[in-house]
Amino acid sequence: MIVIMKAQARMRNISAVIARIEDAGFKVHLSEGEERTIIGVIGDGRPIDRDQIERMADVERCLPILEPFKLASRNFKPTGTTFPLGDHLVGGKEIILMAGPCSVESRSQIMETAQAVKEAGAHVLRGGAFKPRTSPYSFQGLGEEGLEYLAEAGQQFGLPVVTEVIEPALVSLVCQFADILQVGARNMQNYALLHAVGESQHPVLLKRGMSSLMEEWLMCAEYILSHGNTRVMLCERGIRTFETYTRNTFDINAIPVIKQMSHLPIIADPSHATGKWEYVSSAAKASVAAGADGLIIEVHPEPESALSDGVQSLKPRRYAQLVIQMKAIAEAVDREIR
Ligand code: PEP
Ligand code: MN
Repeated sequence: MIVIMKAQARMRNISAVIARIEDAGFKVHLSEGEERTIIGVIGDGRPIDRDQIERMADVERCLPILEPFKLASRNFKPTGTTFPLGDHLVGGKEIILMAGPCSVESRSQIMETAQAVKEAGAHVLRGGAFKPRTSPYSFQGLGEEGLEYLAEAGQQFGLPVVTEVIEPALVSLVCQFADILQVGARNMQNYALLHAVGESQHPVLLKRGMSSLMEEWLMCAEYILSHGNTRVMLCERGIRTFETYTRNTFDINAIPVIKQMSHLPIIADPSHATGKWEYVSSAAKASVAAGADGLIIEVHPEPESALSDGVQSLKPRRYAQLVIQMKAIAEAVDREIR
């Protein structure tokens, strides 16, 4: 259930409602909008006396949230979640561009890529240091050394960095270097990891599992939100279908659907969604038109020799062209790429 307080409700009345809910044994999550405060009531299924709360001072009304995801639901925060990333605000009018190689391969490779994507207009640098590879014989990433190079490149070019964390024990280490923790598709339902990134209070990019329903994905966001970590972004990276010509099938529907179901920002990953560089630009432009709040795109200075995902990586020059085109599309749909 959510309790919608009246506009300009007094603080002591809000506190009284919170105290009543907590005394009854329920947990409270606050959503303080510009206009009004919404109080999320999280319980274990036991009923709560709704009439009694509705009669309290400054309470406008109580609403049941019917979806199984409560804190992730659009009803809980009708205005949408926004938070700063570097000098930019995610979830607002701006579209946030994240770019960089699939994996950090060397200091010079990440430096060169960071400079190129920064010049092209990217706002966040990506690069994997701990790689969850399908084969145990594939390059597994440089680990802590990769985190160091990534953080150094981010600092040098003024770009916050996003990198994947693959197990709970690594969360505190990755937090020391990264501005955003990526939870990969293969780990979307790794509940121990979701608890750990939730507790960290670091911004999280939660990728959709490759065969996951949107509702399952939002339930995973709920795990993170339940720790009071509100800086969660969802990432559509393509799903498994019968089609094998492309690596995945880009579920562009997810962008407007998630916008309606949830208040969380939605980021598109056209690189993993298509799996071939030739299609990345088309899928990226479609994402902007569909209402994505950001894009994460793989860029490599020499895709032919990349240690992972070279076939879907754009060269810096092509990425720069794409950014110019995305800016025009953003403007047409009343968004902005700064
Ligand atoms: C990645 O971002 O390089 C990655 C492994 O993505 P996903 O988890 O979507 O496969
Ligand atoms: Mn990749």
